[in-house]
Amino acid sequence: MGVFVVRFTLPRDLYYGKGTLEMLSTLKGKKAVLVVGGGSMKKFGFLDKALSYLKKAGMETRLIDGVEPDPSVETVMRGAAVMREFQPDWIVSMGGGSPIDAAKAMWTFYEYPDVAFESLITPFNFPELRQKAKFVAIPSTSGTATEVTAFSVITDYATGIKYPLADFNITPDIAILDPLIAETMPPSLTAYTGMDALTHAIEAYVSTLHSPFTDPLALKAIQMVFDYLVPSWKGDMAAREQMHYAQCLAGMAFTNALLGITHSMAHKTGAAFSTGHIPHGCANAIYLPFVIKYNAPAAAARYAEIARFAGLPATSEAGLVQALCDKVACMNKTMNIPSTLAEFGIKEAEFKEKLSAIAKNAVGDACTGSNPRPVTPDALEKLFTCTYSGAQVDF
Ligand code: FE
Repeated sequence: MGVFVVRFTLPRDLYYGKGTLEMLSTLKGKKAVLVVGGGSMKKFGFLDKALSYLKKAGMETRLIDGVEPDPSVETVMRGAAVMREFQPDWIVSMGGGSPIDAAKAMWTFYEYPDVAFESLITPFNFPELRQKAKFVAIPSTSGTATEVTAFSVITDYATGIKYPLADFNITPDIAILDPLIAETMPPSLTAYTGMDALTHAIEAYVSTLHSPFTDPLALKAIQMVFDYLVPSWKGDMAAREQMHYAQCLAGMAFTNALLGITHSMAHKTGAAFSTGHIPHGCANAIYLPFVIKYNAPAAAARYAEIARFAGLPATSEAGLVQALCDKVACMNKTMNIPSTLAEFGIKEAEFKEKLSAIAKNAVGDACTGSNPRPVTPDALEKLFTCTYSGAQVDF
């Protein structure tokens, strides 16, 4: 083909609203597997409900439970083996990002048992799925938006490497956004996942791959997060419902426009320090205001458009960019998210010792390619140093 093809892909159907979990009873098929995580879906009764709706649809069901946070290659292979034996025509995944991500990979090895895991690491290199089953995703948190994205992250614990898998074949067929399920999130999870969603939308809007199709989704998502995240964090369930939709809009934008270096930095620091894991959304929330400042020389007009659309109080381009940074920092402060890595509790000696390796790893992250301003290991070292101490980004 002589033309440069750009693709925009979303699930075929999206059901949203309180109680829409019941849409499982309308699926047409013979057998369904349900993939879930550690037990919260069972504890809150959603697991039993999902199984009963699938039975009402006339389907034989099989449960794959116990998918751990940051799912392993072994968990994926275990689930795929269950699927090969059971031969489902529907794969239903429910929970936070992890069970849905794991189910996407299980689906691939169910349909293609002989595919090499290594070959899936090459982006957009998957075999053609949907030969045996279609895929439903039901998120219980309001942030990752894996229910509408072409991504899945699987961890190889033998090597300690996280593999981001990317292909439109693993974009789900159906997403069910039932806000009653998101009501179970505790406040810190609400804050972190919500700031992850905000980062998705802002990074997608300034991404080098943004398009007329992704821009409106990103802008609307940002405005909704500004309006609803803090009330949702405070326990307002009407706002929680709107956040569940906002994070999905952000997902629709970034699955097609990709992300930027906030995510590169979060990916390479999440498990880097001995003082403990930095939750993904928390890391994004800390880095985002610094990254906006770093990217501003290349993307000020785009950040200003965001600030103007969201009605932030400023008129000049520089003033609008600053207002956007201030808004993000203010939300962090309100929800008790640290503003620097030092405040998070990372030890200075360990930070300095690991800085150069982390910066180099972050440059090589899959999210770096679509960042609006180019990065070098040296620039990221400087940027990381600012996020540690809170110093101004002025380079
Ligand atoms: Fe994210």
